[in-house]
Amino acid sequence: QDPVPSDIAIASAQKPKLISQVANELNLAHAEFEPYGKHTAKVTLDVLERLKDNTNGRYVVVTGISPTPLGEGKSTVTIGLSQALYAHLKKPAFACVRQPSQGPTFGIKGGAAGGGYSQVTPMTSMNLHLTGDIHAITAANNLVAAAVDARYFHESTQTDMQLFNRLCPKKKGVRSLSEVMTRRLQKLGIDKTDADELTSDEISMFVRLDIDQDAIMWRRVIDTNDRFLREITIGEAATERGMSRKTGFDISVASEIMAVLALTTSLADMRERLGRMVVALSKQGTPITCDDIGITGALTVLMKDAINPTLMQTLEGSPVFVHAGPFANIAHGNSSIVADRIALKLVGVPPGEPVTPENSGYVVTEAGFGADIGFEKFVNIKCRASGLVPDAAVIVATVRALKMHGGGPDVVPGKPLADDYTQENLELLEKGFANLRRHIENVNKVGIPAIVAVNAFSTDTPAELALVRKLACEAGAYDAIPTQLWAKGGAGATKLAEAVVRCCSETNNDSDSGFHFLYDADLPIKEKIETIAKEFYRAGSVSFSEEAERKIEQFTKNGWDKMPVCMAKTQYSFSADPSLKCAPEGFDLPIRDIRASLGAGFVYPLCGAMQTLPGLPTRPCFYDIDIDANTGDILGLF
Ligand code: ADP
Repeated sequence: QDPVPSDIAIASAQKPKLISQVANELNLAHAEFEPYGKHTAKVTLDVLERLKDNTNGRYVVVTGISPTPLGEGKSTVTIGLSQALYAHLKKPAFACVRQPSQGPTFGIKGGAAGGGYSQVTPMTSMNLHLTGDIHAITAANNLVAAAVDARYFHESTQTDMQLFNRLCPKKKGVRSLSEVMTRRLQKLGIDKTDADELTSDEISMFVRLDIDQDAIMWRRVIDTNDRFLREITIGEAATERGMSRKTGFDISVASEIMAVLALTTSLADMRERLGRMVVALSKQGTPITCDDIGITGALTVLMKDAINPTLMQTLEGSPVFVHAGPFANIAHGNSSIVADRIALKLVGVPPGEPVTPENSGYVVTEAGFGADIGFEKFVNIKCRASGLVPDAAVIVATVRALKMHGGGPDVVPGKPLADDYTQENLELLEKGFANLRRHIENVNKVGIPAIVAVNAFSTDTPAELALVRKLACEAGAYDAIPTQLWAKGGAGATKLAEAVVRCCSETNNDSDSGFHFLYDADLPIKEKIETIAKEFYRAGSVSFSEEAERKIEQFTKNGWDKMPVCMAKTQYSFSADPSLKCAPEGFDLPIRDIRASLGAGFVYPLCGAMQTLPGLPTRPCFYDIDIDANTGDILGLF
C-alpha cells in the first residue's frame, strides 16, 4: 500500500496462525512446546537432544553501520530477510531476535518487532510482557539484592553462635548441614562433616561472609525508564538500625542475569553461571558469589521457564524465536545461544540426507548496535561460548544514514528532514560510505563474507543505490542489494535472500571456513582491549585510568583475565566520542574503569560514562498508547 500504514495498523490487519500450527509445521512434538495463549509458546531444550544428529542449517548474522538518529532498520531486515527466504524462496527459515525491554517501549525508542511489512506478530505481545522472561529476571535479580543486604544486616546484628544456630539449626539434637553449607565448608578448606566439631574460629569463618557494605556491587533492577531510581539511599527505616547505604537501579535487561540467559547452553550451565556471579567483596577483599550467599538454587528455579525460547511468527508466517536481550551498552547485546541452536537444528538436515544448498535451511539472527559493537561481540563472546560458526553477515545500511556520516546536518525533532536526505547527493553519500567500508573490512577480517542490505527509503535515487553497490563491492563486500522489505515484506527482499543463499552455498563448510576470533581469550586483558581498539575501531592508542589499571591488576590476580572482553562503548562512533561520526582513526580510546561479569563470563571495560537506566523524555511514547475498551485492541504502539 502507498503510503505504508503504521506498524500497528499493518500488524492488526493480519491474523496470525495459531502457535500450535507453527509448532506443527516445525514438527515439534507435543511435549516440546508449551503454548502461552494463542500466539506464543515456549520451546523446551529437549529438542536439542532429539535433533542432535541433524546437520545445522546455515547461520546468518544481521548487523549494521554505526547507528544515526535516522534509524537503519536491522530488526526490519532480520525479519524481512527470513520472510523472503521462507515465503518466497521456499526455504526452511528462522529469525532469532532479542526481546525488547518495556522501558524504551513506553519511553523513547518504540518497538523492536521490525517494521512495515516485515514484523514479528503479534507485535503487541512481543513489545509488552511476552512470556514473562524479563519479569523473571527482575525477580531473580532483586532476590539477590535483598539477600545480600539482609545477610549484611544479620551478620552485623548477631553473634557468631546466633548466626550458626540459625544457619544450621539443631533438629532433634543433630545439627543439620544443608548442601549449601557443606559446599561452603569445602570452599573454606574445612574438612569436617560434623558441624558440632567446628572450632570457634572455624564457626566464625563459616558463618560470616563479612560483606563490605561499601563494596556491594549488585544493584536492583526495574524494567521501567525511572530516572529517579538511578541513585537512591536504601535502609532508611528504623528497623534497619542506621545501616542505610547509597545504591541504585539499572534497567532489567542490564542485569547480569540477562547476559547469563543469553549465553547459557543448558539448565546445568545456567545454574553454574548464576552461582559464579560476584555480588560484593568481603572486608578482606575476597569476592563473594551467589553460591556463597546460598541463593543459586532459588535463582535457577525463578529462571527455569525463561531458559526456553519463545516461539512466535512473522507477518508471512515464518517462525521466529524471541529470546533474551542483554543491554548492549554494558553487555553483549545479542539474542540467546539456545534459541540459535534450536533454530539451527530445526531447519537443519536430518542424518543420512545429503547436505546441499537446496535442502539447507537458514537461521537469521540479529546482533544489536553497529557492527563494531554488536557484531564484534557476536563473534568474540557469543560464538566463542556457543561454538557456532556464522556463514555470512548482512550489514544493514541506509542511504540517508550514510549521508549523515558524510557530514549531513543533524535531525531536528519536529522539523522536516533536510534536503540532503530527501534529494540526490552523491558526494555526501560517498564521503559517508567510509563508515560502511570499515564495517565491511571488519567483518571480512574475522573471515566472514559481508553482504550489504541497503534498506531503501522512497527518497533514495537509482544513482545513489548504484553508488553504494559499486563502493561496497570494491570494499570487499560479497554483494550489496537494495531492499524494500519495509514497504513490501519478503517480496521486497528476494534478491537479498538469493544473494545470502548463493554466498552460503559458496562458503558454508565449517572445515574450510576462514572464520576466526579477533583475539585469543588467554591474552592479557590489556592486550585484548588493545586488539579490539586498534583492529576494529582503528584507535591509535588506548589509555587506561588509574582505576582501570588497578582493577586489571586485581582481576589478573583473581584469575579473571582469561575471559573475553565486552567493550562498553558508544554505538554512534568507532571512537568513545559519539559526535565523531563516519570513520575516525588514530584517536585515543580512554578506558575509565573495568568490571567483571563472572556468570556471563566476560570483563567489561567502560569507555566513557554509560547510562544503565534510561529516563523518560518530555513526550514519551506512552502518550500514544491506549486500548479500545470495546474490543480490547491495543492502539498506538508505534
Ligand atoms: P534497528 O533495528 O536498526 O533499530 P528497526 O528495524 O527497529 O531499526 O527500525 C526502526 C524504525 O524504522 C521502525 O519503526 C521501522 O518501521 C522504520 N523503518 C525501517 N525501515 C524503513 C524504511 N525502509 N522506510 C521507512 N521506515 C522504515
